[in-house]
Amino acid sequence: MANLVEILDLKDLIAGTGHDLTTGFESLYSRLYAANPQSPVVKQIEQRVEDYFSRLILPKYPTIYDLLLLSLRQKDAIFTFNWDPFLADAYERLAEKVSLSNLPNIFHLHGNVRVSFCEHCNMAMQKADVCDTCGMSMTPTRLLYPVERKDYTDGPYLTIQWEQFREFIGRALIITIFGYSAPTTDQEAMAIFNNAWKNGESHKFIHRLEIIDTRDGDELAWQWSPFSIFHHYDVRRSFHESLLARYPRRSCEALFQSNYEGKYVEPIAWASNLEGDGIAEMIAHEGFKRDTD
Ligand SMILES: [Zn+2]
Repeated sequence: MANLVEILDLKDLIAGTGHDLTTGFESLYSRLYAANPQSPVVKQIEQRVEDYFSRLILPKYPTIYDLLLLSLRQKDAIFTFNWDPFLADAYERLAEKVSLSNLPNIFHLHGNVRVSFCEHCNMAMQKADVCDTCGMSMTPTRLLYPVERKDYTDGPYLTIQWEQFREFIGRALIITIFGYSAPTTDQEAMAIFNNAWKNGESHKFIHRLEIIDTRDGDELAWQWSPFSIFHHYDVRRSFHESLLARYPRRSCEALFQSNYEGKYVEPIAWASNLEGDGIAEMIAHEGFKRDTD
């Protein structure tokens, strides 16, 4: 987000409006939108964001997105603010190898370039002009929102994403925050998160917040400790150190057995390695086969 003005080559376009280029992309967009949401500059910015992120493609080899999806089950959910297509594309290619009932749900809290919404069926799905189910035309999800007034009840698509966010967070045992810096522009999102997560706090004895981030430990502790329950939070330096990678598809069971029953739970080795044909190895693994039977 910090380099978006350069990446999208927006300098000349924005300079022409008289706004300060150092303000930051989200604030700039917000101001231009406030002045006139239909102005040609606003429309061009939206189009460039859409074009740029739509063009991104995954490499052929297994990526962290594939691992993340395979480390979770259908009862789980991933909530992302990312516009890029990587999770949606990884989901699509994995769905060709494993049943959809073995993959987690994905919700895009700020829209996504690969997702459309059918207002008739009230469902989000892979981007297309018409709905698979009812044949009506679908609307692409909106990517940009003015930061000063992000409205998470703006239209049925976003409303559903955020309802699901509250629902899943409220009954989650483990929450993994992966590479999310919780910018001040997302205060509203953080408030929704905290209320849902802390609901019934006194009963959440073994609940766990895991933060995967490379930033300084003290900075992370300062930022995330208000969101932890009984100070149960762990900072991990990479995905491979997380409960998801060490106990793929069994992270809640592993947490319960170690923290409630006091047992030693041996990590499952299969998601620790991205080299070679990691995906085939993971799918061939006993634990995954048992899920798919
Ligand atoms: Zn439909």
